[in-house]
Parts: sequence; structure tokens; C-alpha cells
Amino acid sequence: MEQPVWPISITSRSGVPGRNQSVTDPAVPYFDLKIQFQNLRNEILPALERVCESASFASGPEVKAFEEEYASFCEVGHCIGVNAGTSALHVALRCMDIGPGDEVITTPFTFIATAWAILYCGATPVFVDIHPATRNLDPAGLRAKITPRTRAILPVHLYGLPADMDAIHEIASDAGCKVVEDAAQAHGARYHGRRTGGLASMGCFSFYPGKNLGAYGEGGAVTTDDADLAARARALRDHAMRRRYHHDEVGYNYRMDGFQAAVLRVKLRHLPAWNRRRAEIALRYTEAWKDLPMQLPEIPGGRESAWHLYVVGVENRDRFCTILLQEYGIPTALHYPLCLHQQEALRDLGYASGDFPVAEALARRCVSLPFFPEMTDAQVDTVIQGVCRSLS
Ligand SMILES: *Cc1c(COP(=O)(O)O)cnc(C)c1O
Repeated sequence: MEQPVWPISITSRSGVPGRNQSVTDPAVPYFDLKIQFQNLRNEILPALERVCESASFASGPEVKAFEEEYASFCEVGHCIGVNAGTSALHVALRCMDIGPGDEVITTPFTFIATAWAILYCGATPVFVDIHPATRNLDPAGLRAKITPRTRAILPVHLYGLPADMDAIHEIASDAGCKVVEDAAQAHGARYHGRRTGGLASMGCFSFYPGKNLGAYGEGGAVTTDDADLAARARALRDHAMRRRYHHDEVGYNYRMDGFQAAVLRVKLRHLPAWNRRRAEIALRYTEAWKDLPMQLPEIPGGRESAWHLYVVGVENRDRFCTILLQEYGIPTALHYPLCLHQQEALRDLGYASGDFPVAEALARRCVSLPFFPEMTDAQVDTVIQGVCRSLS
């Protein structure tokens, strides 16, 4: 999570209701996990105590119970808890037998971990540009990127919006390759009625604290309806140990810990209400801003977003963010300022700026606004008015 920068001196000519002119106190926080803990204190602390008393620190009954509950939330047969979203992606790609020489097609507009997992397998990430409205991998460019080495497609449900799965599956099945979901931002989203995590061979989730469902540390999960894939993932996360001290392939120490599972079990009970509140705030933002010179999130028919982030696109971003912060006390963040093919770490893939114009345009224009379920209606109004005034 990027920390918004708060300037040393602030001048306000805004008069937005609720604006507090103190330097340390923005009108609205970008994001606030402390309020959530205050609300959940009486549920979380006893859960942590249970873990201490049972001494089930690595794996154990809380992890098993969380896996059952999260599988049922995702409406899939199996959930395997791991120690991070990046590990979930790595394990899922290993379950697809991705290895050196293989190509995995994904979006250039995502968090870098999507590409790390492909590289950890020794495979090559191949990018295809995004769709300007959904900001997800555009199936229109997908077929042209299929080669005899293509082994899997890894769509990301960016900002919580499910990718165009029907079109992706059609191309994947023609090409004889697998599909894995990066659902790290999409806990609880739906695509034609079905939950993310159940839309491909495997789904990968992150429980990084800032996600819709966040641990009190690191966490992740792989979901699947396939019992054999589930058994392989379960083995891989625990040193590939199907039988004690017997290892039939290279495994990892990617186990979920007991404290995280206990926290996640408490928070999972609140997730549906939190996601509903996110959708309500999103609706209010979109209604209020529909006539402004700004690109708003669009949700195609048949899809329900998990509304992880509310991201707009503006032409003059630096100026917009500076006015929002300095005059209206509204902090912002960027998801993401640079595409994957423009990252120094991935330069050996041989891409150049200009290769993915839609993604690059979004990287220049995107702005994430304050957006979290605990926001009060007054805070939502402050953001609405600040944005309207900044663009007028
Ligand atoms: C957060 C995130 C990840 C990585 O999850 P970690 O738990 O931080 O390892 C992967 N992909 C996407 C799209 C993410 O947003």
C-alpha cells in the first residue's frame, strides 16, 4: 500500500464540509485499517488467544477451518491456504506444470507479482494489451499472442472486476492451454453468477492487509474444483510432502500460519457486508461524477465487481492530485504508475514503451481515490465535492 504524501503547509480555499486544516489530519484518510480493528476487537482478540492456547501456529485447525469456509464462500470444492498471494500464483502455475521454455500470457497492467510467479517457474510472461473500459486483459489481442509454447493464460480481475472469462476460455480451449485466475483483488466478485476463484482451473487470492479480505500479516489461497490439483497444491505448499519426510518433487514452505487463519475467519464473516458497502460508495461516486471530464469504472453486464479500488482516469493527473490534496485534504494513490513491460526488472523480456498503448495511457492517467468500507457518508460527500471542484 503506497503511503500518500502529506505536504508541510496547506492552504484551503475550499470550505468543503468536514475539512480539517491540521497538517497531520487529512479531510478523509486514503485508507484506514485501524477503525476496522476497533470495530472487530471483541472478535479478533479471543480468536488470537485460541491460537496461542492450542499452540497451532503453523497450519493446524484454524487453517483447516478457514480453508473450508473460504471454499464455501467461493462456491468451489477446495481451498488451500498459503503464506501470500504471490505464493498462491506460484503454486497454481506449478500445478499447471508450467516450467522453463513455456509461455504464460497475462496483462501488462497489474501488480508485479503476477509476472513474478511466471518467472519463478522459469517460464516467460507474454503480455497482451488491456481493454480501455474494463482495464482487464483484452481478448481481442489474445489469439495473436498464442504460440506453440503457450501453456497458460493468467487473467487478473483488476480492481475487483472479473476479466472477460468466456472469451478467454474459448481461445484457451482452441489453443489447448490452461487458465488460472489472479483473483488477488477480487474476493467475492461474480461473473455470470459464479464467484471468482471458481472461474478457471485454479484461482489465486492474496490476503495482504490492504485487500478486501486482509490478514494481520501476509496470507493467500489457491481455490479449485479439481481434487487432484488441490492435493498437489496442498503438497507443494508444505515441502511437497505427501508422506512425512518423503518428497517426490521440489516443494516450498508456503504454509499459512494459525494467527492469519484465525483473523481471516473472523473477517470473512464481515466480507459480504463490506463488499456491499464498497459497491454503495462506488455507486455514489459514479452517479456524482458521471458528467465530469474523467474516465470512470465501467462494469459490463453479467459481472459484479468486488470493488477493491475506485480508479478514475484524468488527463492532467499531477495537477488534479495536487489540488485534491492541498486544497481539499483528499489523498490519492496510483495503481499503477508503470506497466510491467516498462519495469527495469523485466527489461530482458525485450518490450519497449509504445508496445501496449492502452495500458500505458492508463498508467499515465489512473488515480485511486479514498475508498474503504468504513468510510462515513460525510467522508464520501467530502471526496465527491472535492473531486467535482478540482475539475471545475
Ligand atoms: C496483491 C496482489 C498480488 C500479490 O499478493 P501478495 O499477497 O502481496 O503476495 C498478486 N496479484 C495482484 C493483482 C495483487 O493485487
